Amino acid sequence: MHAGFAGVVQHEWPRPRGWTAPELLDALSVTTLPGVGATLAKRLRALGIETVRDLLAHRPRRYERAVDEIAISQLWGDDEVAIAGEVVDVRARRLGGRRSIVTARVRDESGTIGASWFNQPWLAERLTPGTHLRLRGRLGRYGFDVKSYDVGAARATADFAPVYPASEQVPSTRLRELARAALAQHGRYLPDTLPAELELPLRCDALAAIHFPETEAAAEEARRRLALDELLTLQLLVARSRDDDSIAAALPEPGELVARYRELLPFKLTEYQERAIAEIDVDLARTVPMQRLLQGDVGSGKTVVALYALLRAVENGRQGALMAPTETLAEQHFLTVEPLCAGLGVRCVLLTGSAGSKAVREAIASGDAQIVVGTHALIQRDVAFHDLAVGVVDEQHRFGVEQRQALAEGRSPHVLHMTATPIPRTLALTIYGDLAVSEIAKPPANRKPIVTAWVGAERSSDAYARLRIHLDAGRQAYVVCPLIEQSETRLARAAEAEAERLRRAELKGYRVGLLHGKLKTADRREVMRQFKQGELDVLVATTVIEVGVDVANATIMIVQEADRFGLAQLHQLRGRVGRGGEQSYCLLISRDKLELTDVAQSRLQALCDTTDGFELAEVDLELRGEGQLLGTRQSGWSDLRFTKLRADRDLIERARQLAQELRDEAGPWQDEADRMLGDADHRGLA
Ligand code: ADP
Ligand code: MG
Repeated sequence: MHAGFAGVVQHEWPRPRGWTAPELLDALSVTTLPGVGATLAKRLRALGIETVRDLLAHRPRRYERAVDEIAISQLWGDDEVAIAGEVVDVRARRLGGRRSIVTARVRDESGTIGASWFNQPWLAERLTPGTHLRLRGRLGRYGFDVKSYDVGAARATADFAPVYPASEQVPSTRLRELARAALAQHGRYLPDTLPAELELPLRCDALAAIHFPETEAAAEEARRRLALDELLTLQLLVARSRDDDSIAAALPEPGELVARYRELLPFKLTEYQERAIAEIDVDLARTVPMQRLLQGDVGSGKTVVALYALLRAVENGRQGALMAPTETLAEQHFLTVEPLCAGLGVRCVLLTGSAGSKAVREAIASGDAQIVVGTHALIQRDVAFHDLAVGVVDEQHRFGVEQRQALAEGRSPHVLHMTATPIPRTLALTIYGDLAVSEIAKPPANRKPIVTAWVGAERSSDAYARLRIHLDAGRQAYVVCPLIEQSETRLARAAEAEAERLRRAELKGYRVGLLHGKLKTADRREVMRQFKQGELDVLVATTVIEVGVDVANATIMIVQEADRFGLAQLHQLRGRVGRGGEQSYCLLISRDKLELTDVAQSRLQALCDTTDGFELAEVDLELRGEGQLLGTRQSGWSDLRFTKLRADRDLIERARQLAQELRDEAGPWQDEADRMLGDADHRGLA
């Protein structure tokens, strides 16, 4: 047990196990911590940290081993070491582009060396002459390459210490200080949610140990303790949502409508699509509501399968609904689905926050609308289906648990969940509990794997030259803008500026359209229509094109500052090309390789090495940990902060058993499950 913090782990008073504290931590903003103002709060928010609870659940990615502190005159070789001294002078220099270097001469009793920091220009002001510094790093091209540092009296850098998923603006060292403050102030208020009989270590002790362990082993033990907590909560939700009594309409054998649908499709279904369809048909024939996960990489042909399931409802005189997480996606689906429906004489409507009049709602209520495509607007109270038999939930991991339930509640439709985030099959089974899984493991055969290349910023003009060759051959292209701070408005503005710049420079003379999250619905639709119909050559876009956009003539994509994106996200983006029979290309332009972290380099390399989403998911697992794998942070399912899915199989099983036992018992574990639901509700559709 770690005993470093007064008031955190040294409880002098006996405490009841299972003690429920006020739900303080959720309401408690990080701004209640010393030194956290509006600016830092905003930067923390970009890391997904808003409350003290978020902060404490921000798990160190690894722990840095302690290194020796040596005299500057002893520096030699390329081992990582620590030095300490004071600043003699400092200068900041631009290296071109956004890149910059700050160099400080640092002196100790034995000598002086230049220490350098990349892309942290603000440091120059902090490093005034005479400032005491402790630096961890190694000799490099520019003198001493600083990896981490302490300013003034702080001593965290060279010791055994947590390394957090950090950002440029909130370095790991800062997160360490914040975690320390949060534990000292609030550690005590963390309730234990598991039954006392289990005799587990207290949660607050585990939290202290995960942030500031004395050994790796202590950290690992703490992690598993916290993992059990969250897995139990998750499995409780799974157990609760299993409604053993609900009955769905059993649909008879596939009929004439889906036969015509097959004929209408301009291609033959792949064996994987056929297998998924067969599995769905078996489910639909039963009165137990279908709960099936349809997994398949982007472009693997899930939508075709989904529409099949919806049409099965229609041919039996009932309704089908397709729910997407964003308006753009819902519209995209509508654009794909509606013409096919029209060809079959099936009435299809769109219902989102901004599209869908009273008349549409009435058509849904009367059964006149046979297939409804929409966003979560579909499950709002004022929408009543006449007779919903099949629901498809696209990218289901982006919905909170609650949204998933609402679609099923009281209506008991068969539900197909689609996801393009490739989760290795075995993991999907464990996480989603009772969901059956269909997998489209390979895209249609006429696809050629996308050729991916990683290009340093200095060669970006070559990338654009390549792109123009495609345009001149009558193809279309995407340019994805850098991922900057997470405000949609700023992203939109940056994308506008970038499109303007490209129109004058690299893409002069081409028809360049712009797509971002702040466009009005009508404008966005118009841009998509123009691109689809070939009235635009290039679509400059933010990540809003990540899912759903489907233009087979687009054969090349440039991703700017690709190192800022996550692996799964890049894979999704890349899936926008290579959707026709043509060879397609994805050019990842990164910042200078020298400046990239090892993890960023591994990500880009992995993308060049394979287009197999499942393989990439494994790599992602290795590099990032679980929370990221499960999709965006906004979903209840991604609340796994401490679990290592592959290492913790035994814990998953244990949690599942515990959940069976505890499902109908009152106790703090129920509060925790409610909290996760509330959280999903609160953040689920951000
Ligand atoms: P997903 O939803 O999995 O991303 P889609 O269903 O949107 O994939 O399919 C991607 C593209 O592939 C679409 O243009 C679709 O028409 C096409 N497609 C789907 N199935 C096949 C198939 N069996 N053969 C050829 N093309 C197909
Ligand atoms: Mg799709």
